[in-house]
Amino acid sequence: MKTAVFSTKPYDKAFLRAANANEHLKFEFYEERLNHHTAALAQGHAAICAFVNDTLTAHVLDILHGHGVRFIALRCAGFNQVDLRHAATLGIKVARVPAYSPYAVAEFALALILALNRKTHRAYNRIRDGNFSIDGLLGFDLHSSTIGIIGTGKIGVVFATILGGFGVKILGYDPLPHPAFTAAGGTYIERDELFARSDIISLHCPLTPETFHIISEENIERMKKGVMIINTSRGALADTKAIIRGLKSEHIGYLGLDVYEQEADVFYENLSETIIQDDVLQRLISFPNVLVTSHQAYFTETALRNIAETTIANLIACKEEAPLKNEVTVGMLHH
Ligand code: NAD
Repeated sequence: MKTAVFSTKPYDKAFLRAANANEHLKFEFYEERLNHHTAALAQGHAAICAFVNDTLTAHVLDILHGHGVRFIALRCAGFNQVDLRHAATLGIKVARVPAYSPYAVAEFALALILALNRKTHRAYNRIRDGNFSIDGLLGFDLHSSTIGIIGTGKIGVVFATILGGFGVKILGYDPLPHPAFTAAGGTYIERDELFARSDIISLHCPLTPETFHIISEENIERMKKGVMIINTSRGALADTKAIIRGLKSEHIGYLGLDVYEQEADVFYENLSETIIQDDVLQRLISFPNVLVTSHQAYFTETALRNIAETTIANLIACKEEAPLKNEVTVGMLHH
């Protein structure tokens, strides 16, 4: 089955090729991000393979369908970028990689917390500049602090388990509580109480209409002064302008973002020779207590290998008309 792979970076190509060593599938790799301008590249392919910042709106799906595409293999867990209802109407099946390494993302969330707290990112630059002063690098003991986890699924539970070694109080909010979270030492409470009691809040829920802008002006006001917010989930969980106001008023003390609402135009590209037009992102980056990374929490060898293997298994299942166990269905929008 011929598959057009969008948003391909050299590492994607390498891992997909390695997982397809016996050449069951035929890939055409495109560096282009999928959108209504690039969808025509899929012409002559029965399947496409897409990533987090590819756009799969109704319009793009119509174009893909017109070119013969009947299957979409997502190289990610989240599926908020796909108009699933429209895909179902067109008879296009969608599959994803539901789990490839919850450890990669949970470990990265912890890396953001530790770096922001102890300011290792700033110490690194100071030392390289011959500045051995530690003034301004004062941190706090994580021990005895309270960490609130919003979304206690696969990643949230691993994150809670790792935190178990730090002697912290772990709070969680999830409309579907999981026994594994309680077993990892977490305590479920209501969302507003989590906002009010946590020193650090880490987001591990999917982007849905209910979680859109969960970090809003109103909810920031509920949080402790000096709170640390970590988002390794999806950019639109946070209202970035409200966050900037919170940083300026010092209500938010630290911010770690691996995802950003408008990331699609910027992340994964080397823009060091261009003038970045996104003033909100540039303002965010200018704060000394903000650490922004380019959607790299998933980026480990284990995760890339698992993503490639599951993607290929999904494509082969589709080709052989076998049961599609990682299918994303409209019904999943309500969970
Ligand atoms: P998961 O489906 O195992 O867990 C998500 C949890 O969120 C579930 O327990 C669900 O009940 C809960 N949830 C749903 N609605 C909620 C709400 N309104 N409030 C609080 N919790 C809610 O998913 P996962 O594998 O743990 O991944 C979590 C998210 O991490 C993904 O949706 C994705 O957006 C993000 N992610 C980011 C990266 C990255 O590289 N930065 C990589 C992988 C996943």
